[in-house]
Order: sequence, then C-alpha cells, then structure tokens
Amino acid sequence: MAIAQSKKVLLRLDPSYKRCPSCRDVNTLRRSRAKNLFENILKFTGIYKVYRCRKCNWRGPLSTIIVTKNTVKNIAIYAAVIWFALYVVSRVISSLDK
Ligand SMILES: [Zn+2]
Repeated sequence: MAIAQSKKVLLRLDPSYKRCPSCRDVNTLRRSRAKNLFENILKFTGIYKVYRCRKCNWRGPLSTIIVTKNTVKNIAIYAAVIWFALYVVSRVISSLDK
C-alpha cells in the first residue's frame, strides 16, 4: 500500500470531503457548474474545481490536489531523470556530429 502510494506523483483529493471554507461544516460541498470563462479555465486545468456549500451557499474554486513532501520528492526525482536523459541525448547527438 505504501509502495503504491509513493509511485503516485500527485495525490488527487475529492474536496467534497473537505470542510466548507465559509461555515467550516463537513460534507456540505457539492460540485457546481462553471459559470464564466475564469471558472472554465480553472476547470480545464483540472487542478481546481468549482464547489458550492449546500448549507451556507458559499461558492468558489477548491484545489483537488494535495501537495505532500512525497509529491515534492517525486517531482524532484522526475526532474532529475528528465535532466539526465536530456544530458545523455545531447552528448550522443554531439558525438554523432563528429
Ligand atoms: Zn458552508
């Protein structure tokens, strides 16, 4: 279980289970339709989604991604691997030119 979780770069979270930012109540948030261009852009990125509180009528975007220490570590590892791959490829290409 721990191994499977560490392989995920980003952990997705359903903000429906989060507390309402306005009334601090739990289990009152429901997905809301994007009503304008800004909200559509947020929806398109997939990072934020628009929610509405059924209790106090609060409405706004909430993040669906949790950034943990593990997330940062995984991103650093991926960046290092990509950088190394690019370095090797550039060395191979330059050696082919000779
Ligand atoms: Zn609320």
